[in-house]
This record gives sequence, C-alpha cells and structure tokens, in this order.
Amino acid sequence: MPPPLRAPRAGASVTHAEVLIVGGGNAGISLAAKLLRDGAHDVVLVEPSPVHRYRPLLNYVGSGEARPAAEERPTSSVVPAGCRWVRDAVAAVDPVSRTVRTRRGTSLRYTTLVLCPGMREDWAATPGLQDAYSAGWAGSTYVPSSAPLVWPALRAVREGAVLFTVPPEPAPCGPTALKPALMACDHWNRRGVLGDLDVTVVLPEARPLDVAGADEHLEAVFASYGVTVVRRSRVASVDPVLRSVDVATPTGTRRLDDVAYAHVVPHYRAPEWISESGLGGASPAGLVDIDPTTLRSTRHDDVWAIGDAAAIGTRSSGGALRKQVAVLAHNIAAAASNRRLRAYDGYTVMPVTTSRHQLMLVQADREGPRPLPLPHPFAPRRSAWWFDRYVLPQIYYRRLLRGKV
Ligand SMILES: Cc1cc2nc3c(=O)[nH]c(=O)nc-3n(C[C@H](O)[C@H](O)[C@H](O)COP(=O)(O)OP(=O)(O)OC[C@H]3O[C@@H](n4cnc5c(N)ncnc54)[C@H](O)[C@@H]3O)c2cc1C
Repeated sequence: MPPPLRAPRAGASVTHAEVLIVGGGNAGISLAAKLLRDGAHDVVLVEPSPVHRYRPLLNYVGSGEARPAAEERPTSSVVPAGCRWVRDAVAAVDPVSRTVRTRRGTSLRYTTLVLCPGMREDWAATPGLQDAYSAGWAGSTYVPSSAPLVWPALRAVREGAVLFTVPPEPAPCGPTALKPALMACDHWNRRGVLGDLDVTVVLPEARPLDVAGADEHLEAVFASYGVTVVRRSRVASVDPVLRSVDVATPTGTRRLDDVAYAHVVPHYRAPEWISESGLGGASPAGLVDIDPTTLRSTRHDDVWAIGDAAAIGTRSSGGALRKQVAVLAHNIAAAASNRRLRAYDGYTVMPVTTSRHQLMLVQADREGPRPLPLPHPFAPRRSAWWFDRYVLPQIYYRRLLRGKV
C-alpha cells in the first residue's frame, strides 16, 4: 500500500488539496474512491452537477429497454466517504502556481491535479443541429435531455427515411451510437415495417469498428436489415425546417431529404479552459496532452488526466477507465515516492447491440483486438446483452465507483 498522503487540518475550508480531482463522472468518482481505499486522506473533488449518470444506459433508454432516469443517482450518493466535494465548476488552471479557479471565483491550490471533466458537445461543429434537437425532429441518446425522447420518436416512425450517425473521434465510446440504430431496426423488422423504411447509417471511417473479426459481423447485420452505410463521412449541417441533412463524404456533399427522424450524435471536444490553461495538445478537440502510457501531463509533472478528456490515443470508454484508474492511482503514489510508474496499455471496449437482445462485446488495446477466450469471440450473444444491460450497471455503482477496480 502506498504511503498515506498528508491529512487536511480539521475543519479547514478547501483552499488546498493534496489531490484535486476535476470532474466527478465515471473517472473522477472511481479515482477518488480508489485513492481513499489505498490510504490517501486529502482528496478533493470539483463537480458542478447534482446528478451522476451511468451513461451507457442512455442507449437503452433511447431504445425502449430502460426507463428514463434509470441511469441517474444523486451525486451526493456516489461521492466516496472521506472525499470533500466542491459543488462548482473549474474555469481555469494555473499549472505554474498550482492553482485552480472555479466559476464562482474560488481559488484552490493543489499538490497533485487530476483532470477528468469529460468532453462536451460541440454544437457549433454542426450548423442547425441544436435547433433540430429543440424541434424534436433530431435527437440522440448521447445527449441526456434528448435520450428519453428518442424511443417515442423512433417507435412512431412507420415509413420514410431515418438517419443514424456514429460521431467522429474523439467521442465518448462513439461506436455505441450503433446500439439505438440496430435495436430500432430489429424493432421495425419485427413490426413488419422495415421494408417501408430507408435507414442510413453514417460512419466516420471506412469500417464500423476497425476491428478485424468484429466488423464482419456488423457488416452482415447492416446487410440483413437493408441499411445503407455511408462511410468516411460526417454530418456537415442539418435543416430542421426542410428536414434535410447534408453529409460530407469523400466525394462531396450528399443531401438526404425528407428525413423522418435524424439520430445525429453531436461532435465532441474538451472544455476550452484546458487549452486556455496551456494543458491541451495540438488536436483541435483540445484534449489534455498526456503521456498515454503513464497518464501524466507532458508539461507538468504534478498534472495527470484520464477519461474522455485525456488524449489517450485510443477510443475512450467507461470500460477503459477500469484500467486507467488502477494505473493512475498507482502512478500518483509512485511519483510521490520516486517509484517506478506503471503503463496503461490502451485497453478499451466497444459493446454494440446487433438486435433488441443481442450484443457483441469488442475489446482492444494498442496491440489490437483482445477477443474473449470463446469460440467466435465477437459473435453477438444474448448473455452479453444481459450482462451489459443488467449486470454492468450494478457493477458500476457497487464496485467501480467504490474504487474496487
Ligand atoms: C450514450 C453513451 C453511451 C455510452 N456507452 C458506453 C458503453 O456501453 N460502454 C462503455 O464502456 N462506455 C460507454 N460510454 C462512454 C462512457 O460513459 C465514458 O467514457 C465515461 O463516462 C467517461 O468518464 P469521464 O469521467 O471521463 O467523463 P464523464 O462521465 O463525462 O464525466 C465528466 C464529469 O466532469 C464534470 N465536469 C465537466 N466540466 C467540469 C468543470 N469545468 N469542472 C468540474 N467538473 C466538470 C461533468 O459534470 C461530469 O460529471 C457511453 C457514453 C455515452 C454518452
């Protein structure tokens, strides 16, 4: 067990933290719990939201397989005992003076800073999209306020064109945007209306996952539902009045007219204050620039990052955090006592439902796919669907958020 970090003075207000964690999502809460479990005493979390979400369930909400709000818990119930919670948002970091400033103007000093504020929607990247969401003609499971509206909208579609997109990277577990698409296709198929629908899926790359052995299954599923797949493309703009979508393809812009419902996932970027604080990398998305193996800032030894906001170099996912949290908890303690740092191998997951009750679980790291030790490891399975829908949320709240990674 690493040596305990310095304890705060009893009753002191939060002006200094031994470990200051920015963002109380999957990454921040799991890490705070793991550090405290390992013996840390002075862990402070900055998180503005009173609601914590297990976001993978949003895809099941938008597919009629989970009730709205099933994925929510009060943040107060997931902040680990012993962690002090500052209910505010970080607005700037000064890594030279080791100070964080919040939106309400509080200054917090730190010895070690961990950035995990996730990504935010980049609405400006897709003109017309925010208005289209407001009009209810477009939406997606990725936006929590929109997710409960998705299934009523999809279920009501009986004919015409329907569009689904997988967002370009970086995005929070982008391939899972196929879940609502393929669960909806299965629903329409069972209702006998799939033949009256013109379903299009826009992929950012040539292949759905870029994982040999897994992509073949998905291509067969697309073909079985008669889905038109538009590859190496992204939505350029939408027009909620004309109900049209312009898709930027390698050969030019392709317009889809008379779209009955557009499940268009917004593009994503890191919060701007990361780059403004000199902690972002060269990418336009402004993710925190870290060594993707040690998870340490390339510029400041006392700054670290994990989760969606970190430039990890692989697809982000909640599953990836199981590994990142363990590596980072070790590395923070190891750095304080000049011990050897551990390496994160880039492990990530891409769970994709192929029908209403079947799921293919794809795992990979920087070396390539990590198939389950089963015959046909990437084949869609009912057991995998039940595990993803019913077992993982329990593991998330009972183990991962309690630092048992
Ligand atoms: C629809 C959907 C489906 C998904 N499905 C899966 C799946 O099936 N499997 C899987 O492994 N992964 C899945 N993911 C991805 C997974 O949810 C994310 O990778 C994971 O939540 C990332 O955790 P995070 O803590 O980095 O970011 P988040 O969970 O986004 O948390 C970030 C936190 O930081 C807070 N914050 C933001 N700005 C500030 C600020 N300025 N100051 C302080 N706090 C701030 C936010 O309020 C938030 O609580 C899915 C994601 C979505 C959206």
